[in-house]
Amino acid sequence: MANPTEQIVLAADIGGTSIRAAALALSDSTVSILDSIKFETRPERGFQSAMNELALNISSIAKRVEVDLKTTPLGVASAGPISIYDGVYDLSPNLPNWEGFGVSQYLQNKIRSPTVTAHDGAMAVLAESRVGNHKDKLNMIYLTVSTGIGAGIIANGKLVVGHNSGAGEAGHIIINRGGRSCENGCKGCLEGLSSGSAIADIAQKKIAYNRNSTLNEGDQRITAADVVAAARRHDPLASEIISDVLDNLSSGLASLLALFDPEVLILGGGVIDGLAPWWTELLQKTKGTALPRYRDYLPIFQTSLGGNAPLIGAAIFVNDYA
Ligand SMILES: [Zn+2]
Repeated sequence: MANPTEQIVLAADIGGTSIRAAALALSDSTVSILDSIKFETRPERGFQSAMNELALNISSIAKRVEVDLKTTPLGVASAGPISIYDGVYDLSPNLPNWEGFGVSQYLQNKIRSPTVTAHDGAMAVLAESRVGNHKDKLNMIYLTVSTGIGAGIIANGKLVVGHNSGAGEAGHIIINRGGRSCENGCKGCLEGLSSGSAIADIAQKKIAYNRNSTLNEGDQRITAADVVAAARRHDPLASEIISDVLDNLSSGLASLLALFDPEVLILGGGVIDGLAPWWTELLQKTKGTALPRYRDYLPIFQTSLGGNAPLIGAAIFVNDYA
């Protein structure tokens, strides 16, 4: 149980691959996860089926940490595009046929917890700004590079939300016009060229012309993790793909620095974890691409919150709101 100065809230993080439900204890400067459950999203089963499973898991966590659902707020972070507070989905290739459904109302009807929802990138930067290694900065960006790419932005101390709650879709800035497209069809965007799904797909297409690559050795479809592992073994094809990814990521990072002049730009997500051996190279390439003022000092860091940033941010968001 949390100590008396802490507030217990419930939170969830909805991604295209998995969903997490959790109970967290919040104080002024710390957050700890008391209990959590992870399960597969399987988005093709539809919004209601996924939300029903989430509601069941939240209920069982509430029981385990001994809180009353009716009075314990629930904060939800979700892959977007999604509207802030009510959490109504817009069209998304990653969550097909979920558009028009609202997370907050659906869960509130099911489990009765007062619920607010927001974009996972926005929640991640909120978490970094309160409890991360670089907290209390007024200008801050969190960029996640995983299956897809997205950002949360705090500018002049305020979360940038946008007219349709759609701000922060940094994965879709065009960095190589006419290049490979993401699932949304924007050609040459950052996500289309350097996300986890892009790395896997590029490798899968290239092995047909590179029969000697060690990437050819398995029977299964290639994943981004396979490409990273092969590049660590100095496989020439995998090394070439990773080198291109570093070039493309550095273009995206340079653009974000130029647009927002952040005090810190924090990187998270599975692809960033995988690229750890190339971290110095990524920073060097970014220095070579960014405005001259970044030649000596680049304010780019890896997240200290791991994959928990959106979940923690959702807990903070609902605690602020309630
Ligand atoms: Zn795109």
